[in-house]
Amino acid sequence: MNPDIASKVVVSPLNFHPEVRAFMKLPSEVIIHDTTLREGEQTPGVVFRPEDKIAIARMLDLVGVQQIEAGFPAASQGEREALRRLVKEGLEAKIFGFARAVKADIDEVIKCETFGLVLSFPPSDMHLKFKLRMSREEYLQRAVELVEYAKDHGLYITYSAEDSTRTDLEFLKQVFRAVIEAGCDRARIVDTLGCIHPSAMRFLVKQIREALPPGTPIEIHCHNDHGLGLANSLAAIEVGASVISSVVNGLGERAGVTPTEEVILALHNLYGIGGFRTEHLYELCKLVERISKIKVHPNKPVAGENIFAHVSGVHQHAVIVNPTTYEPYPPELVGQRRRLVIGKLSGRHAIKAKLEELGIAMDEEGLTKITEAVKSISEERKSALSDEEFLQLVNSILGSPK
Ligand code: ZN
Repeated sequence: MNPDIASKVVVSPLNFHPEVRAFMKLPSEVIIHDTTLREGEQTPGVVFRPEDKIAIARMLDLVGVQQIEAGFPAASQGEREALRRLVKEGLEAKIFGFARAVKADIDEVIKCETFGLVLSFPPSDMHLKFKLRMSREEYLQRAVELVEYAKDHGLYITYSAEDSTRTDLEFLKQVFRAVIEAGCDRARIVDTLGCIHPSAMRFLVKQIREALPPGTPIEIHCHNDHGLGLANSLAAIEVGASVISSVVNGLGERAGVTPTEEVILALHNLYGIGGFRTEHLYELCKLVERISKIKVHPNKPVAGENIFAHVSGVHQHAVIVNPTTYEPYPPELVGQRRRLVIGKLSGRHAIKAKLEELGIAMDEEGLTKITEAVKSISEERKSALSDEEFLQLVNSILGSPK
Protein backbone atom coordinates (compact mmCIF):
# COMPACT_ATOMS: atom_id res chain seq x y z
CA MET A 1 0.00 0.00 0.00
CA ASN A 2 1.23 3.44 -1.01
CA PRO A 3 2.01 5.22 2.35
CA ASP A 4 0.41 8.43 1.08
CA ILE A 5 -2.91 6.63 0.50
CA ALA A 6 -2.59 4.66 3.75
CA SER A 7 -2.14 7.91 5.73
CA LYS A 8 -5.52 9.12 4.43
CA VAL A 9 -7.43 6.14 5.81
CA VAL A 10 -8.72 7.71 9.02
CA VAL A 11 -11.26 5.48 10.79
CA SER A 12 -12.29 5.19 14.42
CA PRO A 13 -9.26 4.40 16.61
CA LEU A 14 -11.59 2.34 18.81
CA ASN A 15 -11.47 -0.39 16.12
CA PHE A 16 -7.94 -1.06 17.32
CA HIS A 17 -8.45 -0.47 21.06
CA PRO A 18 -6.82 -3.35 22.98
CA GLU A 19 -10.03 -4.09 24.85
CA VAL A 20 -11.96 -4.35 21.58
CA ARG A 21 -9.29 -6.51 19.95
CA ALA A 22 -9.10 -8.73 23.04
CA PHE A 23 -12.54 -10.15 22.23
CA MET A 24 -11.50 -11.13 18.72
CA LYS A 25 -9.87 -14.23 17.39
CA LEU A 26 -8.92 -12.82 14.00
CA PRO A 27 -7.09 -14.92 11.42
CA SER A 28 -3.85 -13.46 10.04
CA GLU A 29 -5.23 -13.85 6.52
CA VAL A 30 -8.82 -13.94 5.29
CA ILE A 31 -9.57 -15.91 2.15
CA ILE A 32 -12.15 -14.35 -0.14
CA HIS A 33 -14.08 -17.10 -1.88
CA ASP A 34 -15.91 -15.07 -4.49
CA THR A 35 -19.05 -16.60 -5.94
CA THR A 36 -20.12 -13.87 -8.38
CA LEU A 37 -19.91 -16.37 -11.24
CA ARG A 38 -22.20 -18.89 -9.51
CA GLU A 39 -24.47 -17.08 -7.04
CA GLY A 40 -24.33 -13.79 -8.98
CA GLU A 41 -26.01 -15.57 -11.84
CA GLN A 42 -28.89 -16.42 -9.51
CA THR A 43 -29.90 -12.75 -9.66
CA PRO A 44 -33.07 -12.37 -11.74
CA GLY A 45 -32.13 -11.46 -15.31
CA VAL A 46 -28.39 -12.07 -15.02
CA VAL A 47 -26.77 -14.50 -17.46
CA PHE A 48 -23.01 -14.76 -17.92
CA ARG A 49 -21.52 -16.15 -21.13
CA PRO A 50 -18.20 -18.03 -20.85
CA GLU A 51 -16.28 -14.94 -22.06
CA ASP A 52 -18.05 -12.78 -19.45
CA LYS A 53 -17.02 -15.22 -16.74
CA ILE A 54 -13.41 -15.13 -17.92
CA ALA A 55 -13.35 -11.30 -17.94
CA ILE A 56 -14.77 -11.13 -14.39
CA ALA A 57 -12.46 -13.89 -13.13
CA ARG A 58 -9.42 -12.02 -14.48
CA MET A 59 -10.43 -8.88 -12.61
CA LEU A 60 -11.07 -10.84 -9.40
CA ASP A 61 -7.61 -12.31 -9.80
CA LEU A 62 -6.12 -8.84 -10.31
CA VAL A 63 -7.75 -7.68 -7.05
CA GLY A 64 -6.14 -10.64 -5.28
CA VAL A 65 -9.26 -12.71 -4.55
CA GLN A 66 -7.87 -16.14 -3.64
CA GLN A 67 -10.74 -18.41 -4.69
CA ILE A 68 -13.43 -18.26 -7.36
CA GLU A 69 -16.58 -20.37 -7.29
CA ALA A 70 -17.06 -20.24 -11.01
CA GLY A 71 -20.21 -22.16 -11.81
CA PHE A 72 -22.54 -25.11 -11.61
CA PRO A 73 -21.38 -27.47 -14.39
CA ALA A 74 -24.36 -29.82 -14.14
CA ALA A 75 -26.60 -26.91 -15.18
CA SER A 76 -25.55 -26.37 -18.80
CA GLN A 77 -23.02 -26.80 -21.58
CA GLY A 78 -22.06 -23.12 -21.25
CA GLU A 79 -21.26 -23.58 -17.56
CA ARG A 80 -19.05 -26.57 -18.33
CA GLU A 81 -17.24 -24.70 -21.10
CA ALA A 82 -16.68 -21.67 -18.86
CA LEU A 83 -15.31 -23.79 -16.01
CA ARG A 84 -12.96 -25.74 -18.27
CA ARG A 85 -11.64 -22.56 -19.86
CA LEU A 86 -11.19 -20.87 -16.48
CA VAL A 87 -9.20 -23.78 -15.10
CA LYS A 88 -6.79 -23.34 -18.04
CA GLU A 89 -6.57 -19.53 -17.68
CA GLY A 90 -3.57 -19.83 -15.36
CA LEU A 91 -5.01 -17.50 -12.72
CA GLU A 92 -3.53 -17.23 -9.24
CA ALA A 93 -7.02 -17.78 -7.82
CA LYS A 94 -8.13 -21.35 -7.25
CA ILE A 95 -11.24 -22.40 -9.17
CA PHE A 96 -14.17 -24.22 -7.56
CA GLY A 97 -17.23 -25.88 -9.10
CA PHE A 98 -20.60 -26.12 -7.39
CA ALA A 99 -22.63 -29.32 -6.98
CA ARG A 100 -25.81 -30.46 -5.31
CA ALA A 101 -25.65 -33.66 -3.28
CA VAL A 102 -25.88 -36.05 -6.21
CA LYS A 103 -23.08 -38.04 -7.80
CA ALA A 104 -23.90 -36.81 -11.32
CA ASP A 105 -23.28 -33.19 -10.23
CA ILE A 106 -19.96 -34.11 -8.62
CA ASP A 107 -18.95 -36.02 -11.77
CA GLU A 108 -19.44 -32.87 -13.85
CA VAL A 109 -17.16 -30.92 -11.49
CA ILE A 110 -14.54 -33.69 -11.65
CA LYS A 111 -14.62 -33.57 -15.48
CA CYS A 112 -13.92 -29.83 -15.41
CA GLU A 113 -10.72 -30.51 -13.45
CA THR A 114 -11.27 -27.73 -10.94
CA PHE A 115 -9.17 -27.41 -7.79
CA GLY A 116 -12.19 -27.57 -5.53
CA LEU A 117 -15.79 -28.60 -5.06
CA VAL A 118 -18.52 -26.80 -3.15
CA LEU A 119 -20.95 -29.50 -2.11
CA SER A 120 -24.29 -27.98 -1.14
CA PHE A 121 -26.70 -30.06 0.97
CA PRO A 122 -29.18 -28.51 3.46
CA PRO A 123 -29.44 -30.24 6.86
CA SER A 124 -32.31 -28.13 8.30
CA ASP A 125 -35.49 -30.00 9.24
CA MET A 126 -37.42 -27.65 6.96
CA HIS A 127 -35.38 -28.70 3.91
CA LEU A 128 -35.19 -32.35 4.96
CA LYS A 129 -38.95 -32.52 5.22
CA PHE A 130 -40.18 -30.36 2.34
CA LYS A 131 -37.33 -30.46 -0.18
CA LEU A 132 -35.28 -33.61 0.28
CA ARG A 133 -37.91 -35.83 1.93
CA MET A 134 -35.33 -37.75 3.92
CA SER A 135 -34.55 -38.50 7.56
CA ARG A 136 -31.51 -37.12 9.41
CA GLU A 137 -29.93 -40.62 9.29
CA GLU A 138 -30.36 -40.85 5.52
CA TYR A 139 -28.95 -37.35 5.17
CA LEU A 140 -25.82 -38.16 7.18
CA GLN A 141 -25.21 -41.35 5.27
CA ARG A 142 -25.49 -39.63 1.88
CA ALA A 143 -23.31 -36.70 2.98
CA VAL A 144 -20.48 -38.99 4.09
CA GLU A 145 -20.71 -41.16 0.96
CA LEU A 146 -20.52 -38.16 -1.37
CA VAL A 147 -17.62 -36.56 0.49
CA GLU A 148 -15.68 -39.85 0.32
CA TYR A 149 -16.49 -40.14 -3.40
CA ALA A 150 -15.30 -36.60 -4.20
CA LYS A 151 -12.19 -37.02 -2.05
CA ASP A 152 -11.28 -40.19 -3.95
CA HIS A 153 -11.13 -37.98 -7.04
CA GLY A 154 -8.67 -35.58 -5.41
CA LEU A 155 -10.93 -32.55 -4.99
CA TYR A 156 -10.58 -29.99 -2.21
CA ILE A 157 -14.03 -30.10 -0.62
CA THR A 158 -16.03 -27.33 0.98
CA TYR A 159 -19.13 -28.76 2.61
CA SER A 160 -21.84 -26.14 2.27
CA ALA A 161 -24.57 -26.73 4.86
CA GLU A 162 -27.30 -24.70 3.19
CA ASP A 163 -29.73 -23.17 5.73
CA SER A 164 -27.21 -23.73 8.59
CA THR A 165 -28.69 -20.91 10.67
CA ARG A 166 -32.10 -22.64 10.88
CA THR A 167 -30.64 -26.11 11.45
CA ASP A 168 -30.78 -27.80 14.85
CA LEU A 169 -27.39 -26.85 16.31
CA GLU A 170 -26.51 -30.31 17.64
CA PHE A 171 -27.38 -31.91 14.29
CA LEU A 172 -25.33 -29.30 12.42
CA LYS A 173 -22.31 -30.13 14.59
CA GLN A 174 -22.87 -33.82 13.95
CA VAL A 175 -23.02 -33.23 10.17
CA PHE A 176 -19.84 -31.14 10.05
CA ARG A 177 -17.96 -33.61 12.28
CA ALA A 178 -19.02 -36.54 10.09
CA VAL A 179 -18.04 -34.94 6.78
CA ILE A 180 -14.72 -33.63 8.13
CA GLU A 181 -13.93 -37.12 9.37
CA ALA A 182 -14.81 -38.46 5.89
CA GLY A 183 -12.16 -36.19 4.32
CA CYS A 184 -13.93 -32.87 3.73
CA ASP A 185 -11.52 -29.93 3.95
CA ARG A 186 -13.69 -27.02 5.03
CA ALA A 187 -17.02 -26.36 6.76
CA ARG A 188 -19.22 -23.67 5.24
CA ILE A 189 -21.83 -22.10 7.47
CA VAL A 190 -24.61 -20.70 5.30
CA ASP A 191 -27.18 -18.10 6.31
CA THR A 192 -29.31 -18.90 3.26
CA LEU A 193 -32.25 -16.75 4.32
CA GLY A 194 -30.19 -13.88 5.77
CA CYS A 195 -32.06 -14.36 9.01
CA ILE A 196 -29.53 -14.25 11.86
CA HIS A 197 -28.02 -11.29 13.73
CA PRO A 198 -24.30 -10.76 14.43
CA SER A 199 -24.36 -11.87 18.09
CA ALA A 200 -26.10 -15.13 17.20
CA MET A 201 -23.65 -15.61 14.32
CA ARG A 202 -20.70 -15.23 16.73
CA PHE A 203 -22.28 -17.86 18.98
CA LEU A 204 -22.89 -20.25 16.06
CA VAL A 205 -19.37 -20.00 14.61
CA LYS A 206 -17.83 -20.47 18.06
CA GLN A 207 -19.96 -23.55 18.67
CA ILE A 208 -18.97 -25.10 15.33
CA ARG A 209 -15.30 -24.20 15.80
CA GLU A 210 -15.25 -25.93 19.18
CA ALA A 211 -17.02 -29.00 17.78
CA LEU A 212 -14.46 -29.56 15.00
CA PRO A 213 -10.81 -30.63 15.11
CA PRO A 214 -8.60 -27.60 15.89
CA GLY A 215 -7.59 -25.70 12.78
CA THR A 216 -10.48 -26.87 10.58
CA PRO A 217 -11.14 -23.94 8.21
CA ILE A 218 -14.59 -22.39 8.57
CA GLU A 219 -16.20 -20.44 5.75
CA ILE A 220 -19.18 -18.12 5.97
CA HIS A 221 -21.79 -17.37 3.28
CA CYS A 222 -24.32 -14.73 4.30
CA HIS A 223 -27.41 -13.50 2.52
CA ASN A 224 -28.57 -9.95 2.96
CA ASP A 225 -32.31 -10.27 3.57
CA HIS A 226 -32.07 -8.11 6.70
CA GLY A 227 -29.19 -5.96 5.44
CA LEU A 228 -26.75 -7.84 7.69
CA GLY A 229 -24.70 -9.87 5.21
CA LEU A 230 -21.50 -7.90 5.75
CA ALA A 231 -22.00 -7.49 9.53
CA ASN A 232 -22.61 -11.23 9.94
CA SER A 233 -19.60 -12.13 7.78
CA LEU A 234 -17.34 -9.92 9.90
CA ALA A 235 -18.87 -11.25 13.13
CA ALA A 236 -17.92 -14.74 11.96
CA ILE A 237 -14.35 -13.64 11.21
CA GLU A 238 -14.04 -12.16 14.70
CA VAL A 239 -14.58 -15.57 16.30
CA GLY A 240 -12.47 -17.80 14.11
CA ALA A 241 -13.92 -18.17 10.60
CA SER A 242 -11.20 -17.51 8.03
CA VAL A 243 -13.00 -17.66 4.67
CA ILE A 244 -15.74 -15.32 3.42
CA SER A 245 -17.94 -16.22 0.48
CA SER A 246 -19.12 -13.07 -1.27
CA VAL A 247 -20.46 -11.63 -4.53
CA VAL A 248 -19.38 -8.46 -6.35
CA ASN A 249 -21.96 -5.64 -6.04
CA GLY A 250 -23.89 -7.84 -3.61
CA LEU A 251 -25.72 -9.68 -6.40
CA GLY A 252 -27.45 -12.98 -5.68
CA GLU A 253 -30.81 -14.49 -4.80
CA ARG A 254 -33.43 -12.05 -3.39
CA ALA A 255 -31.60 -9.32 -1.39
CA GLY A 256 -28.25 -10.71 -2.50
CA VAL A 257 -25.11 -11.74 -0.67
CA THR A 258 -22.29 -9.96 1.22
CA PRO A 259 -20.55 -7.75 -1.37
CA THR A 260 -16.95 -8.74 -2.16
CA GLU A 261 -15.76 -5.15 -2.50
CA GLU A 262 -17.26 -4.13 0.87
CA VAL A 263 -15.71 -7.09 2.70
CA ILE A 264 -12.27 -6.34 1.27
CA LEU A 265 -12.57 -2.65 2.15
CA ALA A 266 -13.81 -3.32 5.71
CA LEU A 267 -11.10 -5.91 6.37
CA HIS A 268 -8.45 -3.48 5.16
CA ASN A 269 -9.65 -0.28 6.81
CA LEU A 270 -11.37 -1.48 9.99
CA TYR A 271 -9.49 -4.65 10.91
CA GLY A 272 -6.05 -4.08 9.37
CA ILE A 273 -6.26 -7.28 7.30
CA GLY A 274 -4.86 -6.64 3.83
CA GLY A 275 -3.25 -8.44 0.97
CA PHE A 276 -5.69 -7.19 -1.70
CA ARG A 277 -5.10 -4.74 -4.54
CA THR A 278 -7.93 -2.45 -3.46
CA GLU A 279 -7.15 0.14 -6.14
CA HIS A 280 -8.85 -2.15 -8.69
CA LEU A 281 -12.12 -2.56 -6.75
CA TYR A 282 -13.99 0.23 -8.55
CA GLU A 283 -13.00 -1.21 -11.93
CA LEU A 284 -14.17 -4.67 -10.79
CA CYS A 285 -17.57 -3.34 -9.66
CA LYS A 286 -18.07 -1.38 -12.89
CA LEU A 287 -17.16 -4.44 -14.98
CA VAL A 288 -19.75 -6.55 -13.16
CA GLU A 289 -22.25 -3.68 -13.49
CA ARG A 290 -21.73 -3.59 -17.28
CA ILE A 291 -21.88 -7.35 -17.76
CA SER A 292 -24.76 -8.04 -15.35
CA LYS A 293 -26.67 -4.92 -16.49
CA ILE A 294 -27.55 -4.33 -12.80
CA LYS A 295 -26.78 -0.71 -11.99
CA VAL A 296 -24.73 0.06 -8.87
CA HIS A 297 -26.81 2.20 -6.50
CA PRO A 298 -25.38 5.76 -6.17
CA ASN A 299 -25.06 5.37 -2.37
CA LYS A 300 -23.35 1.99 -2.56
CA PRO A 301 -19.96 1.83 -0.77
CA VAL A 302 -16.85 1.55 -2.99
CA ALA A 303 -18.42 2.04 -6.44
CA GLY A 304 -21.48 4.28 -5.91
CA GLU A 305 -21.20 7.55 -7.81
CA ASN A 306 -22.13 9.61 -4.73
CA ILE A 307 -19.69 8.28 -2.19
CA PHE A 308 -16.95 10.79 -2.96
CA ALA A 309 -19.32 13.55 -4.07
CA HIS A 310 -19.51 16.43 -1.62
CA VAL A 311 -22.58 18.64 -1.71
CA SER A 312 -22.85 21.02 1.26
CA GLY A 313 -20.70 24.14 1.28
CA VAL A 314 -19.34 23.36 4.76
CA HIS A 315 -18.28 19.86 3.72
CA GLN A 316 -16.85 21.09 0.42
CA HIS A 317 -14.73 23.72 2.13
CA ALA A 318 -13.46 21.23 4.73
CA VAL A 319 -12.66 18.60 2.09
CA ILE A 320 -10.72 21.15 0.04
CA VAL A 321 -8.63 22.00 3.13
CA ASN A 322 -8.23 18.36 4.23
CA PRO A 323 -10.20 15.48 2.65
CA THR A 324 -10.04 13.30 5.78
CA THR A 325 -12.56 15.67 7.44
CA TYR A 326 -15.37 14.03 5.46
CA GLU A 327 -13.80 10.98 3.85
CA PRO A 328 -12.99 7.88 5.96
CA TYR A 329 -10.70 6.73 3.15
CA PRO A 330 -9.42 8.41 -0.01
CA PRO A 331 -11.01 7.66 -3.40
CA GLU A 332 -7.65 6.46 -4.77
CA LEU A 333 -7.75 3.54 -2.34
CA VAL A 334 -10.47 1.89 -4.44
CA GLY A 335 -9.73 3.56 -7.78
CA GLN A 336 -12.54 6.16 -7.44
CA ARG A 337 -12.58 9.96 -7.95
CA ARG A 338 -13.60 12.83 -5.68
CA ARG A 339 -16.32 15.14 -6.95
CA LEU A 340 -17.49 18.54 -5.73
CA VAL A 341 -21.17 18.86 -6.63
CA ILE A 342 -21.79 22.40 -7.73
CA GLY A 343 -25.25 23.58 -6.71
CA LYS A 344 -27.27 25.74 -4.34
CA LEU A 345 -25.28 24.68 -1.24
CA SER A 346 -21.85 25.38 -2.78
CA GLY A 347 -19.82 28.26 -1.37
CA ARG A 348 -17.02 30.36 -2.88
CA HIS A 349 -14.34 27.86 -1.84
CA ALA A 350 -15.97 25.05 -3.79
CA ILE A 351 -16.63 27.21 -6.86
CA LYS A 352 -13.01 28.36 -6.79
CA ALA A 353 -11.77 24.77 -6.47
CA LYS A 354 -14.04 23.67 -9.33
CA LEU A 355 -12.74 26.50 -11.56
CA GLU A 356 -9.16 25.48 -10.74
CA GLU A 357 -10.01 21.85 -11.54
CA LEU A 358 -11.29 23.03 -14.94
CA GLY A 359 -8.18 25.18 -15.47
CA ILE A 360 -9.93 28.59 -15.30
CA ALA A 361 -8.35 31.56 -13.53
CA MET A 362 -10.83 33.93 -11.86
CA ASP A 363 -10.77 37.21 -9.92
CA GLU A 364 -12.81 37.79 -6.75
CA GLU A 365 -15.55 39.74 -8.53
CA GLY A 366 -16.05 36.99 -11.12
CA LEU A 367 -16.13 34.42 -8.36
CA THR A 368 -18.93 36.28 -6.55
CA LYS A 369 -20.99 36.55 -9.75
CA ILE A 370 -20.58 32.89 -10.58
CA THR A 371 -21.36 31.76 -7.03
CA GLU A 372 -24.59 33.77 -6.99
CA ALA A 373 -25.63 32.54 -10.44
CA VAL A 374 -24.98 28.89 -9.49
CA LYS A 375 -27.14 29.23 -6.37
CA SER A 376 -30.09 30.84 -8.15
CA ILE A 377 -30.08 28.46 -11.15
CA SER A 378 -29.73 25.39 -8.98
CA GLU A 379 -32.49 26.52 -6.60
CA GLU A 380 -34.85 27.37 -9.42
CA ARG A 381 -34.53 24.06 -11.22
CA LYS A 382 -33.94 21.97 -8.05
CA SER A 383 -30.77 20.21 -9.19
CA ALA A 384 -27.01 20.52 -9.22
CA LEU A 385 -24.99 21.61 -12.27
CA SER A 386 -22.92 19.17 -14.30
CA ASP A 387 -19.37 20.21 -15.25
CA GLU A 388 -20.58 21.07 -18.77
CA GLU A 389 -23.41 23.23 -17.47
CA PHE A 390 -21.07 24.94 -15.04
CA LEU A 391 -18.63 25.71 -17.87
CA GLN A 392 -21.44 27.13 -20.02
CA LEU A 393 -22.51 29.35 -17.13
CA VAL A 394 -18.95 30.59 -16.56
CA ASN A 395 -18.59 31.38 -20.26
CA SER A 396 -21.91 33.16 -20.44
CA ILE A 397 -21.01 35.37 -17.48
CA LEU A 398 -17.49 36.16 -18.61
CA GLY A 399 -17.96 35.89 -22.37
CA SER A 400 -16.69 32.82 -24.21
CA PRO A 401 -12.95 32.58 -24.73
CA LYS A 402 -12.08 33.52 -28.30
ZN1 ZN B 1 -26.23 -18.14 -1.43
